[in-house]
Amino acid sequence: MIGILGGTFDPIHYGHLRPALEVVQALGLERLHIVPCGIPPHRSAPPVSADHRLRMVEIACAGEPVFFVDGREIGRDGPSFTVDTLRELRAEVGDAEPICLLIGMDAFRAINTWSRWEEISRLAHVVVMARAGSGAPLEGPVAELLVQAGVDNPDALHAVPSGRVLVFPVTRLDISATQVREELAQGRTPRYLLPDGVLEYIHGHGLYAQMSGKPTST
Ligand code: ATP
Repeated sequence: MIGILGGTFDPIHYGHLRPALEVVQALGLERLHIVPCGIPPHRSAPPVSADHRLRMVEIACAGEPVFFVDGREIGRDGPSFTVDTLRELRAEVGDAEPICLLIGMDAFRAINTWSRWEEISRLAHVVVMARAGSGAPLEGPVAELLVQAGVDNPDALHAVPSGRVLVFPVTRLDISATQVREELAQGRTPRYLLPDGVLEYIHGHGLYAQMSGKPTST
């Protein structure tokens, strides 16, 4: 069974890395594809280029062999849709292998706004990483999905290749990339919110110091 965690990673921080590793270990994932998006469909263009975001993910994941940095969405024409990435991954691993899409609770709440969202749960399981501030009840189609497909036991994900939803409690690290960017933009250090190597890269390339909103060159 393999997993995938997509995100803007602008920049990657411990709130991504630690919950993801906890899911990997609890579910016994052989490999977790960490996939920075090229052009995010649901937000304005990140202030930092895709190549910088990819490089920071590589630095953060170095030395953790279960994390597989997957740059396939970078350079793809148009917005990065998760469903397209899952289709590719499904074609690569075959129909029998379970795939788990890891997603934070905040993102899961809005999954019904994602492109072809019903196809997503046909292609993979969804593993929701519950984090601080994610306590309000789910509503509408997302709540229905949980009623229909929700399972309590991680073992249930090994039994079939896709279609189940597991809400998995992870250590709540209420860190966001927004917070990291704000600290930097205000001249404070975000140290201890993200790996030192990523912070060194940020300083080395002068990233996030001035929030102009325009992508930096690579
Ligand atoms: P931003 O602050 O720029 O919106 P972010 O920190 O939420 O960014 P993303 O790259 O948008 O990071 O997140 C990628 C994935 O990781 C999403 O599924 C998101 O819900 C999840 N995630 C982000 N931060 C955390 C966290 N602290 N704990 C658990 N999951 C998280």
